[in-house]
Amino acid sequence: MNEALYEGKAKKVYATSNPDEYLVYYKDDATAFNGIKKGTIDSKGVLNNKISTFFFELLTQNGVPNHFVRMVSDREMLVKKLTIVQIEVVVRNIAAGSLAKRIGWEEGRKLPSPVVEFYYKDDDLGDPLINEDHARALNLATDEQMKALKQWGLKINQILSTFLKEKKVELIDFKLEFGLHNGQLLLGDEISPDTCRFWDSETGQKLDKDRFRRDLGDVEAAYKEILKRLTGETC
Ligand code: UDP
Repeated sequence: MNEALYEGKAKKVYATSNPDEYLVYYKDDATAFNGIKKGTIDSKGVLNNKISTFFFELLTQNGVPNHFVRMVSDREMLVKKLTIVQIEVVVRNIAAGSLAKRIGWEEGRKLPSPVVEFYYKDDDLGDPLINEDHARALNLATDEQMKALKQWGLKINQILSTFLKEKKVELIDFKLEFGLHNGQLLLGDEISPDTCRFWDSETGQKLDKDRFRRDLGDVEAAYKEILKRLTGETC
């Protein structure tokens, strides 16, 4: 295989014979706290590729433009080439993680309505929280694109949380990344237990990367459980 064009914490990106498409390879590597904690989660690459494929297909069916083309193998998906907007969009339904700390709420307290946040994608700065004015000052996106990021974030939240509720999974919060493809804003990156918080609706059990971040054990089993709830597949 060719050299990766880009290697991130959890994925590698390769060029393909089609200049409009990239191949994404999902690794088992896991990091947390801006790369300070490192490890691997057995089969994570396979599980996240399958879980992301499922969510991108669900979003496509519901009219959300995204980069997904098709799954190619257990660890690989073909995507449309994007110029990534350097903003992480986080949508939250229930206070957890950094929000719980920032506003002094206990984890698990329901927000009265969904909260959308923007973070500046910059590892050296530790991805700081920003608002629309900072995004304009930093020339990260136009005002119109910022509005679209928020609207798509809320729409995706509605689609995913409604679907997951039926599977007895609570969508606590999640992170999205977007990019431009021939001038069109598309959802990119991945949607997986690495980028979402999922809690079992009945037991409250964490079924996501917090099991790795917080050393709760049974990390792989949690990712497997999410795939099973989504597709019925055991892998
Ligand atoms: N998240 C992510 N990548 C990041 C930061 C956050 O995927 O670099 C996800 C995280 O998994 C969670 C949501 O975004 O579902 C909100 O994360 P939070 O701000 O609470 O930060 P954390 O507690 O994960 O540091």
